[in-house]
Amino acid sequence: MTLTDDAIKAAVEAGYAAALKASGGANADYIPYLAKVPSTLCAVCAVTPDGKVFAAGDSTYGFAFESISKIVTMALAMEQSGAEAVRSKIGARPTGLPFNSVMALELHGDAPLSPLVNAGAIASASLVKAKDVEDRWNQILAFQSKFAGSAVSLSAEVNQSEQTTNLHNRAIAWLLASAGNTFCDPMEALDVYTRQCSTLVTCVQLATVAATLANRGVNPITKERVVSAENVGHILAEMTMEGLYDASGDWAYEVGLPGKSGVGGGILSVAPGRLGIAAFAPPLDEVGNSVRAQAALTLISQQLGLNLYAA
Ligand code: GLN
Repeated sequence: MTLTDDAIKAAVEAGYAAALKASGGANADYIPYLAKVPSTLCAVCAVTPDGKVFAAGDSTYGFAFESISKIVTMALAMEQSGAEAVRSKIGARPTGLPFNSVMALELHGDAPLSPLVNAGAIASASLVKAKDVEDRWNQILAFQSKFAGSAVSLSAEVNQSEQTTNLHNRAIAWLLASAGNTFCDPMEALDVYTRQCSTLVTCVQLATVAATLANRGVNPITKERVVSAENVGHILAEMTMEGLYDASGDWAYEVGLPGKSGVGGGILSVAPGRLGIAAFAPPLDEVGNSVRAQAALTLISQQLGLNLYAA
């Protein structure tokens, strides 16, 4: 069934209202910058495969991309080396543990299991083919902009906040390296991973990333092909398994769409062929997913009948 503009507009507005009603949660505070972001910010956006944009709330506020950047870097590694290389070197498995779990590594011989947890994302950054650290970084940043449909840039403030507090991720990078699961210098991979989390995106850009995946890899705003249609299927499979970490199964129940969250408060979801949707609000639940963004996207999926498992 095609979605009418009126139906999408109404669902975005209803999703925004549902988000504002949802309470609880708290800003991430292990990254000092994130603790200071105003908790009341809230935005919802949908982008269609033919490039129409429907937005509500603070949709032009730039917030930290964080873990949602993991899908961009994973996609770049897939484009360069093939999805099979990503699957065999990193994995397509749920960890059943928090996104920065060292125990998940220890239980599996220091294998990262998924490109969508910190260990696997550091491994993805290391898999990108690059001649040095700046080349690796510039390729990832350019790919973020290509997905987002407009320029994405690094926030020096977020990056400083993350680079000076990322000791736990540093340990993860060395554990990966100890088992041969990094494909460049582990500290180079960590540096680039930390930067990729520290770019700022708006909710409109986030929904455009989702819409690029909904549109079989062609950005609906720029009309540029970003990833192959074949890799889109693999990216969505990875998102289904681990996109909302340990809540991915519950997300499949409630929303029925591949999604990806970040501790900056953003979440995006992809309705293949139909719609890209995103929401942003800083307070997170105990798993690390935005309370209000989950409320918004759940309502939109239900109102527009987007659940892939409820045909
Ligand atoms: N930069 C954050 C970290 O490495 C990203 C985590 C997230 O968004 N889940 O911990």
